[in-house]
Amino acid sequence: MSAPGTPDNPIRVAVIGAGPAGFYASEHLLKHEPLEIEVDLFDRLPTPFGLVRGGVAPDHPKIKSVTRVYEKTAAREGFRFFGNVKLGEDISVSDLESHYHAIVYTFGAETDRHLGIPGEDLTGSHAATAFVGWYNAHPDYADESFDLQTKRAVVIGNGNVATDVARMLALTEAELRETDTADHAIEGLAGNAIEEIVVLGRRGPAQAAFTNPELRELGEMEQADIVVDPAEIELDDQSKAYLDSDDADITTRKNVEILNEFAKKPLEGKPKRIVLRFLRSPIELQGDGRLEKVVIGRNELVEREDGTLRANDTGDREELECGLLLRSVGYTGIGVEGVAFDERRGTILNADGRVLEAEGNGPRPGHYTSGWIKRGPSGVIGTNKKCAQETVSHLLSDAEAGNLHAPEAPDPDAIEELLREREVDFVSFAGWQAIDAAEVARGEPQGRPRVKFVRVEEMLEAARESVGG
Ligand code: NAP
Repeated sequence: MSAPGTPDNPIRVAVIGAGPAGFYASEHLLKHEPLEIEVDLFDRLPTPFGLVRGGVAPDHPKIKSVTRVYEKTAAREGFRFFGNVKLGEDISVSDLESHYHAIVYTFGAETDRHLGIPGEDLTGSHAATAFVGWYNAHPDYADESFDLQTKRAVVIGNGNVATDVARMLALTEAELRETDTADHAIEGLAGNAIEEIVVLGRRGPAQAAFTNPELRELGEMEQADIVVDPAEIELDDQSKAYLDSDDADITTRKNVEILNEFAKKPLEGKPKRIVLRFLRSPIELQGDGRLEKVVIGRNELVEREDGTLRANDTGDREELECGLLLRSVGYTGIGVEGVAFDERRGTILNADGRVLEAEGNGPRPGHYTSGWIKRGPSGVIGTNKKCAQETVSHLLSDAEAGNLHAPEAPDPDAIEELLREREVDFVSFAGWQAIDAAEVARGEPQGRPRVKFVRVEEMLEAARESVGG
């Protein structure tokens, strides 16, 4: 047989995780000429698009329109989707090695980081990721419940996920009802009793991780005033010097400007308030079985040896009553059996996308990674395009050097047979399109983009309606 990469012996690649990272990796692989490459894109859910479907806030439909790019990739020759297939459960890494010349892990950062403070597990204290999954109809979070009949919610963290959850708590019922927010979440959020949403940043305004449009949006809510105490956004000397320097990041400079505008903005008497606070950390969550208040510590910024500023507890304390706390302090990855993992970073152990055999060892032939599980949970959706390009370029140069796997059963039918043998109810892209059409049809009478299915069983049933799904 000819070398892999020719029409009679294509390079077969399994991409694991159908979010942006998986689709961009697939696109780069399928676009590549003159090598003949085929891609099977797997996802543990019956639905593709990862965080675009399950993470992006429902009131940001424009961001979700990136799925059109992914649909074009899915329409390319040589692409197949296998939804509802769990790596580590339905198939193993060694199964993939038997069927593919290369594997690209793109399954993202699946879980949340913890604060590590007393009371974190009280009822009423949640990971923002769970709240996001719940309002986005992610099947894993369908049965979560949040007490939205409390007057004050506290959000920990100064990233864009914190802005998403703060906004979702402040949307009007009419705003919510235009979106594809899960029905169960609309019911809860529409009648919520929250009057104040307090967002705590452990460092100062010049260290916040918000991007400018997301921060600005918090000051433009229909039913929420924005509140910033001018004293809390006064800059320390180092931050001031940084912002005045030529090295200053434009986003940071603009964030500080926006926050200064917020601090001057008069209250308009809206029914809710979003309060942005800085140099504040939760020290302890208190309550009798359920969250009643958060003890907050005041921080000061201290310069580390590398010149960055860290938050240092001054010992000053205050207490804030609240019934809901969402920690939004970043995602982290979970490994998969048989692939080296960097526990500290929460990523697959890799060098620029080439998976390593083990710490300090060289690359493991045929294994690659891209997206959040490669580099950690940072950047916007588009960041994954460049990230995938780097990984795929390494894969291609390894292919040219003859350094991929030599699978025993590369025939495209063999993996399907294996899944059928194991009674895995996998969903093809046509199956997903049937789910998609059903969801859109459910939304139409209500003037909503879609009404999402929440249960995997419902999704599988809709997929079965498709020809060959
Ligand atoms: P992020 O941007 O990394 O922000 C995490 C925040 O948590 C930081 O402010 C961090 O502060 C804080 N933090 C970490 N540990 C903490 C602790 N123990 N106590 C208090 N605060 C703590 O993460 P993210 O918000 O989860 O977002 C993930 C990525 O998705 C980001 O790149 C984000 O831009 C992107 N995203 C984009 C959009 C959008 O474009 N609309 C929407 C959502 C998410 P320090 O800086 O002090 O560590």
